[in-house]
Amino acid sequence: MTHKTLVWLRHDLRLHDNPAVLHGVANDPCAFVYIFDDITPNVRPLGGASKVWLHHALASLKADIEARGGTLILRRGAAQEVIEQLVRDEAITQVVWNRSYTAAEQIRDCAIKEHLKAHNIEVQSFNSHLLREPWELKTGQGTPYKVFTPFWRTHLAMPAVPYPQPAPKKLLGISGIASDSLDQLQLLPAHLNWSHGITAEWQISEQAALANFHEFLERGIAGYAQNRDRPDVHGTSKLSPYLAFGMISPRYIFHTCQNALQMGQTAASQIDMDRFLAEIGWREFSYHLLYYFPELATRNFQPKFDTYPWEHNPEALQRWQRGQTGFPIVDAGMRQLWQTGWMHNRVRMIVASFLVKDVFLDWRAGETWFWDTLVDADPASNTASWQWVAGCGADAAPYFRVFNPTSQGVKFDPKGDYIRKFVPELAHVLTDSIHAPHEAPPFILSQAGVTLGVTYPHPIVNHAKARVRALEIYSGL
Ligand code: FAD
Repeated sequence: MTHKTLVWLRHDLRLHDNPAVLHGVANDPCAFVYIFDDITPNVRPLGGASKVWLHHALASLKADIEARGGTLILRRGAAQEVIEQLVRDEAITQVVWNRSYTAAEQIRDCAIKEHLKAHNIEVQSFNSHLLREPWELKTGQGTPYKVFTPFWRTHLAMPAVPYPQPAPKKLLGISGIASDSLDQLQLLPAHLNWSHGITAEWQISEQAALANFHEFLERGIAGYAQNRDRPDVHGTSKLSPYLAFGMISPRYIFHTCQNALQMGQTAASQIDMDRFLAEIGWREFSYHLLYYFPELATRNFQPKFDTYPWEHNPEALQRWQRGQTGFPIVDAGMRQLWQTGWMHNRVRMIVASFLVKDVFLDWRAGETWFWDTLVDADPASNTASWQWVAGCGADAAPYFRVFNPTSQGVKFDPKGDYIRKFVPELAHVLTDSIHAPHEAPPFILSQAGVTLGVTYPHPIVNHAKARVRALEIYSGL
């Protein structure tokens, strides 16, 4: 009987260092399939910005696969049904994929695996998404880690992760399998096309992921340890959406960084490099937490927060979402998110702290908005980070750390360039006043063409009072 492999692509939209792809190619002929599954219960549907990203990532991957002689089949439906049908109709003998780590996807994948095995179909799964899978790291007591530093120390002390594998040069596809068109997946906005900002900001392809990484390694990473906190400079890699969709391999990043440092091929210091790789480590840690504590996605990691008196304030939520809070750094961040599908990490922390500790809204309201609007929306990093900021997570920010949106702006956007870019109505406000226009002398505002309450909003909260209240609530939990 002819051996025929089906490679099921999921969060691994790349050809380099993709173990499922390499396995399929070694056992050709093989067919590649991507299933847009918005049906399987409990698998969280993608947000709007992620769907836009996915559309373009699939277009690019399809072209890359076809250029090598293969075909990418696109299907919309429940993954289990689609896989079973393809296996039946095409007489597939083996199905392979790279593993996912959310509870719902694991349940689904187990069911598919059992069904296929019961029908004598070979099934294999691999790790492509992480440096190390969650169960590879355990504390001395055999328990999962809840604190980042020892987690990452253990990772660094373990034998190096495997070297990345190059992309296959040729693919031997299986022809004649019906595919939906990309448009049939309906990933782009149906009516009002709000996605121009995303496509203007990003080149969405595996080649762009690799090129951006190498550019960052040559130019951006030197000074990372200081610059990473500055939203006004290009001080971070902006690789997060490529990592979220598996368009660049974390092992490729890790080994290329280590090699570049050893060979003196980067201007980065050891401190810059350690810091950058530790951020990749936070991504790993988030997956470790999500795998062992799947309730992290929806419930407070620390149950004492279940009694927190979150407020119901749809108007304030909408002002936050639209970047109309009257706090310029918060508004700049929320508008950057809306326009480009991405927000700088420091500003993510500021806007999240503002929502939770100044407006007293449940972190899940913010997490949901991020899920819908981020192109890097990630089931592990998003929930773990929101819980970190809210203080209810594992290894969380201390509850008494309430970000002051004005002083954070002064510190990390000292000339106000970031604010001027995303809040253009404040472009002409002097730097001394740009972080707190509500405290500026009326003369300064009128010279800059700003009328509070008309061209730019009054603050929606009194930060000093909110801080006192937050500390009272938090210390009483
Ligand atoms: P770099 O500084 O260049 O870091 C390199 C890579 O490390 C990133 O691409 C990312 O994959 C990883 N990384 C960096 N910081 C973190 C972190 N704190 N936690 C986990 N991984 C990290 N990141 C996401 O990828 N998806 C999310 O949905 C997400 N939601 C967040 C929500 C909040 C409230 C906060 C505070 C942070 C969130 N982050 C999320 C983490 C972080 O903000 C982004 O990963 C980072 O801003 C991406 O930019 P970069 O690629 O330039 O990062």
